[in-house]
Amino acid sequence: MNLIEILNRNASKFPNKDCLRYNGQGITFVELLAQAEKSAAILQSWGVNKGDKVAIMSYNTPAFVIAFYGALKAGAAVVPVNHKLAAPEISYILEHSESKVLFFDGALGEVVRKVPVQARMVAIGSDAEGFDRLERIMDNAPNFTHIPIEDHDPAEILYTSGTTGKPKGCLHSHKNVVFAGITGALAVKMDEQDRLLMAMPIWHSSPLNNWFIGAQFIGATTVLLREYHPLHFLQTIQEEKCTVYFGAPISYIMPLQVIPNFSDFDLSSMRCWIYGGGPIAGDTAIMLMEKYQSKNFFQVYGMTEAGPTGTVLSPRDQIRKAGSIGCNALPGADLRVMKNETEHALPGETGEIWLNGDSIMAGYYKNPGATAEAFYNGWYKTGDVARLDADGYLYIVDRTKDMIVTGGENVYSKEVEDAIASHPAVMESAVIGRPHPEWGETVIALVVLKTDTTINEKELKEYLSERLAKYKIPREIIFTDSLPHTPTGKVKKFELREQYNK
Ligand code: ATP
Ligand code: MG
Repeated sequence: MNLIEILNRNASKFPNKDCLRYNGQGITFVELLAQAEKSAAILQSWGVNKGDKVAIMSYNTPAFVIAFYGALKAGAAVVPVNHKLAAPEISYILEHSESKVLFFDGALGEVVRKVPVQARMVAIGSDAEGFDRLERIMDNAPNFTHIPIEDHDPAEILYTSGTTGKPKGCLHSHKNVVFAGITGALAVKMDEQDRLLMAMPIWHSSPLNNWFIGAQFIGATTVLLREYHPLHFLQTIQEEKCTVYFGAPISYIMPLQVIPNFSDFDLSSMRCWIYGGGPIAGDTAIMLMEKYQSKNFFQVYGMTEAGPTGTVLSPRDQIRKAGSIGCNALPGADLRVMKNETEHALPGETGEIWLNGDSIMAGYYKNPGATAEAFYNGWYKTGDVARLDADGYLYIVDRTKDMIVTGGENVYSKEVEDAIASHPAVMESAVIGRPHPEWGETVIALVVLKTDTTINEKELKEYLSERLAKYKIPREIIFTDSLPHTPTGKVKKFELREQYNK
């Protein structure tokens, strides 16, 4: 099955049911299909053919979904672009993906104006001065010419977050994406009665493929929230009677911190809370279950390359195995933890997570070298290191690229960062290796302090010596005002290495 078959099937199976909800209004499956075919016809009139790329940079709006299906109907692959990127980053993605069209939310006109024109740039959702707008052009759409789509045809090029280097384009076929949706829907047992709240950016792999496509596959309704906001998040669940939500850990924590009457909101319609995409401490997950008064919490782990299907920690394990990412791959996928290319890690040991399954990308777009490096006998090597407990549950330890080898000992940067973060004066830190002629590498730490606090290098080292083995304690601690972040908030250590490893 491909994404177009799902769209067509929903229109005949659930014609008058709301596919989308936005600002209190509904768009039915039949209406969505009609709009998608109109936008496909416009793309065809601009010369977009099978195999071309269409980029979309947007908030969570019906216009995104119409443009998404429109591009697919025209036979193109969609390149979702992070709406928080700066002009040179957008430009890199448009150029690298060879996108013929960029659909952008009119509200993003200011940044788009700074992007050198490499594609036809058309506003969606709202107007932007000096640009065409898709909705207006659609009023005079020509007839749509049906394009046959095969399951292995490219459907998406998803760019990674750029935490460990320049973002890489992950090429996913229709089959990969449909499979990611099926695994999401199956993992939390979605059905057509469900109402999925989409408050995380819909251009990101997990919101888009596991959850939105999961809802589409099953025929559930998706409630779009233009952008995450803690109050609107609670109000939308209450008003739209949402049942399923996926979000980053911070999206659960923020409402507790900034909405004083949090407990007045009626969240009883919710049957399933999913969090993931980044690490979360075990006791935080337990606190969330208490505050949200639900036992139905799921954690998911994955990455753009995997479509992003990786593992799931189900509700029954949330307390018993707090902090773990689970013990199994999501349904239909497979997982290994490897000490090297041939030896499996045993309980108590650490190793790299490898994934296999139908949602994993075909490869990095126009980067056969990186693709060859990322796979071993069909297994995708995630670059994440996990420790296995006695029952085979996985705990993320670090990224292979961030692990430091000093005097023959492995130091996991995350473990040292966690120890540093436990000091009350510390706001944030990053631990990296610096090349050393004798030891291979030495451990150094960049530390950002909270305002109005002071602590010196000696005091912080003493504090760490009570918590960490000697070889893990940074040789040098450098205090700095800020660290470089990706738009999703991860620290770009590759930039720090360039800066401090000279
Ligand atoms: P790049 O590949 O460009 O360096 P990135 O790996 O940060 O960037 P993403 O694909 O957005 O790009 O992120 C996937 C990574 O996020 C995983 O490889 C893992 O390190 C981390 N991650 C995802 N989910 C979890 C989770 N539940 N717990 C801990 N870490 C997670
Ligand atoms: Mg990655």
